[in-house]
Amino acid sequence: MSAYRGRFAPSPSGLLHLGSLLAAVASWLEARARHGKWLLRIEDIDPPREVPGAAAKIIAELAAYGLEPDEPVLWQSTRRAAHDAALAALLDSGLAFPCACSRADLEPGGVYPGTCRRGLPPGRAARSIRFKVSGQIAFDDRCHGRIEQDLDRDCGDFVIRRADGWPAYQLAVVVDDAAQGITDIVRGADLLSSTARQIALQQALRLPSPTYLHLPLVRGADGRKLSKRLGSDPLAGSDRRSALRAVLTLLGQPPPPAIATLDGLWAYALKHWNPGAIPRGIQPAAADAILLAEDD
Ligand code: GLU
Repeated sequence: MSAYRGRFAPSPSGLLHLGSLLAAVASWLEARARHGKWLLRIEDIDPPREVPGAAAKIIAELAAYGLEPDEPVLWQSTRRAAHDAALAALLDSGLAFPCACSRADLEPGGVYPGTCRRGLPPGRAARSIRFKVSGQIAFDDRCHGRIEQDLDRDCGDFVIRRADGWPAYQLAVVVDDAAQGITDIVRGADLLSSTARQIALQQALRLPSPTYLHLPLVRGADGRKLSKRLGSDPLAGSDRRSALRAVLTLLGQPPPPAIATLDGLWAYALKHWNPGAIPRGIQPAAADAILLAEDD
């Protein structure tokens, strides 16, 4: 068995919020509990959605919580050559193709109808590159159990290089997780539906597949994600020990007693860390109670 290597891979499209803190905390605790490494990768490959200064603030806020990566931060934007090499390999092997379609050309539900799979229609120029999907992908998520997805039916051939020339998230995340030797991925359940596409790419690129643990999405009673309710800078000014305690409770871990220091809380959290207790979904009532407590 290879040594455990985990990571937290935020996009700098906003600041750290309760949902992303949950992913940072769980991925860190699991890496520490497994005597492994915890890496930090800033996924800055979407300049239009990037919030200036967000990356530096995320890194600083993580450090303020005591979450320091074991290796230098990897900036995904520096990895263009590797992303381009993977795109070229997929094109060369016929597993990817240039596509002229835009969102408006998709079927209702966003499924790609295969328009450019056998070549660009006459007179149309390539905008993006898509990966050719075929059939079913199955994997075992450590929290959600067996997941099976039929990529033909659910999404069809998907974009791996965007119309603006940047690699798509699905491609970049697969190439960089492999390059960083990531063995175990712990991240939010909003990415559960991306995992089958990523495994399909790992198989096509002959890269190893890590294990997956998707954390529950935190929703308020109104069904909205907590992060949205908490505004753009939700953790600013909130006491870090309270936020960490809230996150541990949402992760189904035993409620830590009142402990004076952040270090003490981390030691307690690590000693009692039990990934098997992480709930698949978070009760709106529990989430709301935490929100109310934070509002006090
Ligand atoms: N960068 C992605 C995000 O912030 C997460 C990538 C991942 O964990 O796979 O949503």
